[in-house]
Amino acid sequence: MPHKALVAEPSRVFRELLVATLAKNGFETTTRENPFEALTLAESTPFDLVVSALHLSGLSGIEFCSRLSRQPISGKRSIVLITSDDDRKTQEEAMRSGITTFFSKKEFAQFALYVERNFGAASRATAQSGRVLYIEDNRSEGALIEAQLNANGFSVVFVNNAKDALDRFTDEPFDLVITDLVLGSGMMGDGLVSSIRNCPGRAGQVPILVITGFDDPMRKVKLLQTGANDYVAKPVLIEELVARAGLLVTMRKLLDSNEEQKSKLNELAMRDQLTGLYNRHYLVDTAPKMIGEACRHGLPLSLLVIDIDHFKQINDTHGHATGDLVIRAVGDCIERTSRIEDIAARFGGEEFVLLLSHCDESAAEQKAQSLRIKLQDLAPDGIHFTASIGVATLPLAKPCLFDKLFRAADKAVFEAKQNGRNCVVVGKA
Ligand code: GH3
Ligand code: MG
Ligand code: MG
Ligand code: MG
Repeated sequence: MPHKALVAEPSRVFRELLVATLAKNGFETTTRENPFEALTLAESTPFDLVVSALHLSGLSGIEFCSRLSRQPISGKRSIVLITSDDDRKTQEEAMRSGITTFFSKKEFAQFALYVERNFGAASRATAQSGRVLYIEDNRSEGALIEAQLNANGFSVVFVNNAKDALDRFTDEPFDLVITDLVLGSGMMGDGLVSSIRNCPGRAGQVPILVITGFDDPMRKVKLLQTGANDYVAKPVLIEELVARAGLLVTMRKLLDSNEEQKSKLNELAMRDQLTGLYNRHYLVDTAPKMIGEACRHGLPLSLLVIDIDHFKQINDTHGHATGDLVIRAVGDCIERTSRIEDIAARFGGEEFVLLLSHCDESAAEQKAQSLRIKLQDLAPDGIHFTASIGVATLPLAKPCLFDKLFRAADKAVFEAKQNGRNCVVVGKA
């Protein structure tokens, strides 16, 4: 069902602008120039939103809003005043008249944002996906709030005690927990807050809103210290609960998308775009740590440098795109044959590095030979090619830097090229 709006505004141009903005957010809008006609209409029509100008013919916008807010039908209706007057006195007077909020004509974009957030697609997206775990031991009181939260677009799981809450919480993902402070028997709300905060990972960081019957400020401070994000006092004003819950869910979603973006950026920064293997930057960053660990524990570690033979000829004969295809196929083959704890990286153009943990010289040589044969047989798109592989192993007796290990393997590749290519040479680090 579309939202219904009423606009009381004397200027035609501005009326049209309001109607267009509201229409964009799914509103069906009725307009009136005359405030008395608007009041009569509002008496019998359930408008979700009334927008009024500050100056109306025969009645001030403030008086208009004040009469509107006293109408019995008023209920959940939002009343917005649009002013061209920025003085503080007018604004204070407007707030006292029972309006929901006001906007300056000069900052019309703010009004558009308000409509979008509260009524538009953005509001629906937030509400629909807000999964709430709600704990209240008083069943009838709880059922009432559950219904109202659901009516406001949250999807609520309602339980009566902390134990059930923790069971549900460990099994399902939630965007928000709302708990009463006093829960009949067993664990209380603040105990539940600390148990949730002790959960590992993302779950333990879920926003928590506590409903409290105590107006003792120290008790509230304590709640926040325990890990609650916010609280609402009893008797619960549903509008306040919904507004605070909505803010917490939005905040959670923003944090999530931030985290997601950060990890995507991290992933992008350490991967080679063509092959999806790690890039040189990541290898240079990670290899010293792996080498350090291997040295400390006296574990073997080896490094392979794999260089495609006469790759320039592939490019020259078949074109750069085919060259890329070969590089991807090599990357894929190296990735498939390596173990999870190995680091497979594209080091440069047609040169790859495979860092093998728990792998001594003879195992590394075997691995290199088997990889060389796999590459020789690969022939992606019928393109036959071979590769030369240099092997270097961490000397057990003395510490060794990555640079030295790499240079030893690179030198071995050079020798392999001189030995006629398509072969493996083991170097000395
Ligand atoms: P060698 O057997 O001695 O290794 O000869 P080679 O031709 O493989 O080696 P060289 O270093 O002479 O040439 C490597 C070529 O790889 C040159 C460069 O244009 C090409 N190349 C580097 N990066 C890419 C890339 O991302 N895609 C494609 N298609 N070619 C690349
Ligand atoms: Mg080369
Ligand atoms: Mg090459
Ligand atoms: Mg090369």
